[in-house]
Amino acid sequence: MPELPEVETVRRGVEPHVLGRRIGQVTVRDARLRWPVPKNLPALLRGRRIESTSRRGKYLLLHLDNGDRLIVHLGMTGRLLVLQPGHPLRKHDHVDIELEGGVLLRYHDPRRFGAVLLWVAAEATHELLAGMGPEPFSEEFSGDYLFALSRGRSAPLKNFVMDGRVVVGAGNIYAAEALFRAGLRPGRAAGRVTRVQYQLLAEKIREVLAAAIEQGGTTLRDFAGADGASGYFQQKLYVYGREGEACLVCGTAIKRLVIGQRSSCFCPGCQK
Ligand SMILES: [Zn+2]
Repeated sequence: MPELPEVETVRRGVEPHVLGRRIGQVTVRDARLRWPVPKNLPALLRGRRIESTSRRGKYLLLHLDNGDRLIVHLGMTGRLLVLQPGHPLRKHDHVDIELEGGVLLRYHDPRRFGAVLLWVAAEATHELLAGMGPEPFSEEFSGDYLFALSRGRSAPLKNFVMDGRVVVGAGNIYAAEALFRAGLRPGRAAGRVTRVQYQLLAEKIREVLAAAIEQGGTTLRDFAGADGASGYFQQKLYVYGREGEACLVCGTAIKRLVIGQRSSCFCPGCQK
């Protein structure tokens, strides 16, 4: 399932191919994604120029010259491919967006949990983006922010940082690895973590996400025309999926805890 780093990697890979290009024909073969593709999407996109790209959480945004934004979400299995017009169709190729200059942007999604939607300029926000917490690389996100927000909360620390209203992008792997690097146990009450510990945790969350983005980027060299295969999490995993194995730092057996139906691995030696 694509997480924030993979979406950012896709954004960086797609951007140079789409910037400044005008949209031509748009074909929707199957509108039944998680949220239906709007019927008038082809008409609304046609003739518009793509001025910039951005990302909010796991939503990729293509900013158009009239202020509208095309929202693309990859769901569980979605891919946004940069191809040439006329590229052979495969099953699950749901949306094609032709751009001037011989570029085809193709949305492929076997499980159809993703989305291709329009956020019109007249609306200040889109319902899918409302209420999201800050971006991990924004100034707003810091140890002080986490500390202030967590006072009085008894929720397990891992749930707290995985809550998209607290911060976006700290998915299961990233949360587990950041907690290990910060020396904090996942089950600890969020309200009992100190300011200094949150400062370290905020830094580690950024660190694991940045490393994943950097590595994703290196797999993307042949993105254009390729089938979109990427290995976005190749950094060393200290705890995630390592139950019973020896900690790479202290040798203690990694333990697994179930918190809110998710398993959470941690090292009883390194994490307090
Ligand atoms: Zn350890």
